[in-house]
Amino acid sequence: MPHRTIHLFRKGLRLHDNPTLLAALESSEVVYPVYILDRKFLTSVMHIGDLRWHFLLQSLEDLQKNLRQLGSCLLVIQGEYESVLRDHIQKWNITQVTLDAEMEPFYKEMEASIRRLGEELGFEVLSLVGHSLYDTKRILDLNGGTPPLTYKRFLHILSLLGDPEVPVRNLTAEDFQRCRPPDPGLAECYRVPLPVDLKISLESLSPWRGGETEGLQRLEQHLTDQGWVASFTKPRTIPNSLLPSTTGLSPYFSMGCLSVRTFFYRLSNIYAQAKHHSLPPVSLQGQLLWREFFYTVASATPNFTKMAGNPICLQINWCEDAERLHKWKTAQTGFPWIDAIMTQLRQEGWIHHLARHAVACFLTRGDLWISWEEGMKVFEELLLDADYSINAGNWMWLSASAFFHQYTRIFCPVRFGKRTDPEGQYVRKYLPILKNFPSKYIYEPWTASEEEQKQAGCIIGQDYPFPMVNHKEASDHNLQLMKQVREEQYRTAQLTRDDTDDPMEIKVKRDHSEESISKGKVARMTE
Ligand code: FAD
Repeated sequence: MPHRTIHLFRKGLRLHDNPTLLAALESSEVVYPVYILDRKFLTSVMHIGDLRWHFLLQSLEDLQKNLRQLGSCLLVIQGEYESVLRDHIQKWNITQVTLDAEMEPFYKEMEASIRRLGEELGFEVLSLVGHSLYDTKRILDLNGGTPPLTYKRFLHILSLLGDPEVPVRNLTAEDFQRCRPPDPGLAECYRVPLPVDLKISLESLSPWRGGETEGLQRLEQHLTDQGWVASFTKPRTIPNSLLPSTTGLSPYFSMGCLSVRTFFYRLSNIYAQAKHHSLPPVSLQGQLLWREFFYTVASATPNFTKMAGNPICLQINWCEDAERLHKWKTAQTGFPWIDAIMTQLRQEGWIHHLARHAVACFLTRGDLWISWEEGMKVFEELLLDADYSINAGNWMWLSASAFFHQYTRIFCPVRFGKRTDPEGQYVRKYLPILKNFPSKYIYEPWTASEEEQKQAGCIIGQDYPFPMVNHKEASDHNLQLMKQVREEQYRTAQLTRDDTDDPMEIKVKRDHSEESISKGKVARMTE
């Protein structure tokens, strides 16, 4: 008997490479494509901020448009997900709910409660993996039931598994014609809400527009430059370019508007035609594998997004300082490079990976000694690409709490940005109050004379803050603290360590090794 199915979109907001929706269409006489807009869940569990709300609504609008073109429609039902499902399952005589399998505890819990509801009301549940390259369970199985804790070990396991499954075919009008669409009247009742309906700010300054259509266009644009794709080397990309120097596809992967498998295989095709191409960890496929790595570790590590009770994370006595945290979050540290990044993050919802490095290091082990969990929460609220596993994994990395071990390398909040943007165009764009300073002062305007500050139309301490810390003193002090922590918790530190250097530091290390050795000091990263 064919099913009467609700296909529940959670992430996976797309019609290409959507194995779960394809399976729903193949097994049903009627399919209701549903998105449950559960505001309490989205705000209090997923902590989505205004920019991500905009991106989500745009993505739903786009999905609606694309479904309509294929003769179906999206039903956006507002309410608490369990009661919405309970009502509609009975109303529509549903026999099957299909949904993508996700690995975050809150989504797993949601799936478990849907399965319990299924037992109670008598419907089946089908969930397939569509958000990652592999089913992480297979990786865990091959690694003896535990997650591989280093990228090197992870790649080894993948080499045993072989390539990820190829993407399923794009959905077509015929797929939807085979079974009945929802009644047209329903689409009117269950429209995609406008920002004003949800009382979120009306405008978004973000240049990232949500949706599968936009995601696919951006993907195509990048893939046309095959030379760029083949030679992509992450550490050589520029954190302060005015347009992204990496793909900028993360918001689309994060909400599932783009399939990672589609991207992976498009990259494989380009690599197959290139004479040479870069390799993991620094290649574009290598970036997708970092994503996969953090998904795998997060899926089997208790309390992955916390320090307490997290077995792979160093237990550090971080400072609690709400005032300092607020200054960092609101771009008032007095370091233009840090404040420009935090401004871009707040206004646009995306910053380059190395810019993330700079602000994360500054907040934690570099300057402020504030917990990575605090920074992770701010990123969760402000990033368009906020992702449970990747965000926490990278925050542990940057704070040297796990995965990253060259903790003596601390980013300098003055020199790091200067290296790739000596004129400070990026700072001028995001901190217009500083735009008239000559280039030699743009990263440290407090060193300009009173007269020069007047000429630039910005008095430090009045129009823009003095630096909130003395970087040299703070970072020296923190380095000693970190050294002590690592000695005391040597065993935990070793868990996520192998003999490979941090890929993001390779080039930098070469640039500065001479200086470090000749001075006989601890190597410090001074970009
Ligand atoms: P590209 O370089 O073009 O890479 C392509 C894709 O690979 C990305 O879209 C992303 O899906 C994946 N990827 C790239 N770098 C990483 C990485 N280091 N770890 C895991 N996956 C990666 N990325 C998120 O998607 N969500 C987050 O919440 C997030 N939080 C971060 C927090 C910190 C402190 C740091 C340092 C990094 C974080 N990242 C996060 C990782 C990385 O910065 C972004 O994925 C990347 O900058 C997105 O830009 P892109 O799409 O141009 O990346």
